[in-house]
Amino acid sequence: MTTTRRDFLSAAVTAAGAAVTGDLSHANQHDHDHEHQAVPSDLTLRVKALESLLVEKGLVDRPALDALIDTYEHKIGPRNGARVVARAWVDSAYKQRLLTNGSAAIAELGYGSQQAERVVVVENAPNLHNLVVCTLCSCYPWSVLGLPPVWYKSAPYRSRAVIDPRGVLREFGLELPQDAEVRVWDSTAELRYLVLPERPAGSEGLSEEALAALVTRDAMVGVAKVTLSQPGGPA
Ligand code: FE
Repeated sequence: MTTTRRDFLSAAVTAAGAAVTGDLSHANQHDHDHEHQAVPSDLTLRVKALESLLVEKGLVDRPALDALIDTYEHKIGPRNGARVVARAWVDSAYKQRLLTNGSAAIAELGYGSQQAERVVVVENAPNLHNLVVCTLCSCYPWSVLGLPPVWYKSAPYRSRAVIDPRGVLREFGLELPQDAEVRVWDSTAELRYLVLPERPAGSEGLSEEALAALVTRDAMVGVAKVTLSQPGGPA
């Protein structure tokens, strides 16, 4: 995130007055069956129309599409990322490689990407918290996190994560100490970010597999911390 881009966003939002006033806590509280805000209302229809046309012309078939979506939503999902994080927690040499070259270290565990993007891993510390956003659209490290959640793509999150990251984190239920530094990372098509959360206190005796089970998608985007008990489990 450059200062220039940050300034531009702030100015744009100021000019737009109350245009960006979404309720992220609401967005985070329940499963969604509706869009929240500024995603164009005809987008879903356009996608459906495109899918229907492709199916009609025999270029794709619906079961194949469903399988692809299911793969990204449930099989790839955030579990790949959780295994990467757990490995970094138990293997300091791996962690070093992960922080030095995220894509290569992720590939070591067999998680490649069909996209050509580079994944950069940013590490949280007691006085440093990283938050990932894509201010332009919804760029996201699919290979390790699967499909982005609705709130990640929402206009309120995309703008407010930059302008008021602490306020956004508060709405996700995460209150940071005043002296903690918050870094916001703006993703692009070529460069995407994964947060390496802090290993929770009291997890010293856990296996790598048990550690991975604690790591949530939200913690790897930077809107949550990893705790020993995850209420509701990973989404
Ligand atoms: Fe994007």
